[in-house]
Amino acid sequence: DTHKETRQFQTEVSQLLHLMINALYSNKEIFLRELISNAADACDKLRFEALSDDALMEGQGELQIQVSFDKEARTITVRDNGIGMNREEVIQNIGTIARSGTREFISQLTGDQKKDAHLIGQFGVGFYSAFIVADRVTLTTRRAGMTPEHGVRWVSDGSGEFSVETVEKAERGTEVVLHLKADEDEFLDQWRLRHIITRYSDHIPLPIAMPGTDDKGEPNGEWDTVNRANALWTRPRSEITDDEYKAFYKHVGHDFEDPLAWTHNRVEGRQEYTSLLYIPTRAPFDLWDRDRRHGIKLYVQRVFIMDDAEHLMPTYLRFVRGVVDSSDLPLNISREILQSNKLIDGMRAGSVKKVLGLLEDMAANEPEKYQTFWDAFGRVMKEGPGEDYANREQIARLLRFASTHTGESAQTVSLADYVARMKEGQQHIYYITADSHTAALHSPHLEVFRKRGIEVLLLSDRVDEWLVSHLHEFDGKSLKSVAKGELDLGDTETEEEKQAQQAAEEKVKDLLPRIKAALEERVEDVRFSHRLTDSPACIVLSEHDMALYMQQLLKQAGQ
Ligand code: ADP
Ligand code: MG
Repeated sequence: DTHKETRQFQTEVSQLLHLMINALYSNKEIFLRELISNAADACDKLRFEALSDDALMEGQGELQIQVSFDKEARTITVRDNGIGMNREEVIQNIGTIARSGTREFISQLTGDQKKDAHLIGQFGVGFYSAFIVADRVTLTTRRAGMTPEHGVRWVSDGSGEFSVETVEKAERGTEVVLHLKADEDEFLDQWRLRHIITRYSDHIPLPIAMPGTDDKGEPNGEWDTVNRANALWTRPRSEITDDEYKAFYKHVGHDFEDPLAWTHNRVEGRQEYTSLLYIPTRAPFDLWDRDRRHGIKLYVQRVFIMDDAEHLMPTYLRFVRGVVDSSDLPLNISREILQSNKLIDGMRAGSVKKVLGLLEDMAANEPEKYQTFWDAFGRVMKEGPGEDYANREQIARLLRFASTHTGESAQTVSLADYVARMKEGQQHIYYITADSHTAALHSPHLEVFRKRGIEVLLLSDRVDEWLVSHLHEFDGKSLKSVAKGELDLGDTETEEEKQAQQAAEEKVKDLLPRIKAALEERVEDVRFSHRLTDSPACIVLSEHDMALYMQQLLKQAGQ
């Protein structure tokens, strides 16, 4: 019983496949990069699982990726002896997209090839890119540790459905056969394929082999390694080209686009390790997804240990991708050791410093590039001061805000810019939080600040309340909400102004208790205010109250 069944692709997959094939056609050779990248990931996963179950290697620990083609059959085959998949995994991984926000993402696609290619790149099409050049794809796989009769074959023409059946597969791992479309014969060529591999996959730290040939070009029955197959990060910086760094990023970062920046360091001393860390150019569309993957791969002495090593990067730097390779951790490290380990903590602290340093350099020397970074990841960075107390000053220097100085919603103003523009006698850094930039910009609380020419930071990201509850000062100046507590304009008021205010206050002294009586316990207090110049009254929170819109949010959430 082979249990053959035919299933529909999830609607999203069908739509994506269709749009993707058009959008990426001008760059179609990347299908090979994607399949090799998956094969390499599968080998990494096997290594990781074998840490706790050596039997998974089935006595065959030499991991390899093989690429071959058949001119007559018009097929290209990519084979690996990695982890493989069982039936459920095949159905789950290839045929559905389980990431939240997929539907919304697809609705943004326009049919405009250039625009869509960008968006799809951000999404990452991976395996499905096979259908750019193939009109039928056969994937045969067996999960490591299962017996040969538990192989699975998946077949699809990419148009809406796929079939799965149980087959016999002697070797563990996955074999993907592409049946090429009518006009894709250019890929049935030894040199063309070799060229693509060295161009896009040279850095893969496993051997990628193609059938060897003799002097006459006839197959000699051996496999030749085509790529360099050494770990890119172990080479000296000066010998690695930008293109090599970028190609490696696309593999570790599962990204189609070039990275924005990277930092590559060998650390010696108390601890020895190498890190190669990348900042992506754009946020993945599921940056806010709780199940998002962490982007750091951990190696020990060039041997892959684990993916998405969450202990190597704090949450507010979750967009960072790359590898950390330790010389000190034991090769037979257990998963438990990874949970809490001084060496891991040390590498994490060092890596965070490198990333913050990289960002600081970028902010100083390439402000436009830094703005690109901030627009993509600023809201994540704002979690930093709350999460990483030790580095909060450095993080604070990296923050950017909208402010009344520009009046625009773009977040371009640093705290240092603000401080440099502070008025004579001004002691605080003023900000206002609101649920939108427009609401912040038009708040009556700003009237007196406008009149006095005092700049106010306009905070309207959800994370901003969290940020200001952890960031209390910068450069010796405290951050102060213009909407909370007593208004303290420091020494920016002249003596005359103060006297005039006192006189005015005296005049309406009797009014306050009457208003207070009318409002009863709906308010805590009614005060004479110097905040307003045009509006007659406004609501003010006491120093420790939650912002009004946060209160509303919680109320909506039923709290
Ligand atoms: P990604 O690599 O970003 O996860 P892909 O579309 O390239 O996305 O692959 C989808 C999933 O299919 C992978 O995450 C993996 O679980 C599975 N997969 C693909 N190719 C292989 C393979 N050669 N061996 C094992 N699993 C694979
Ligand atoms: Mg992939």
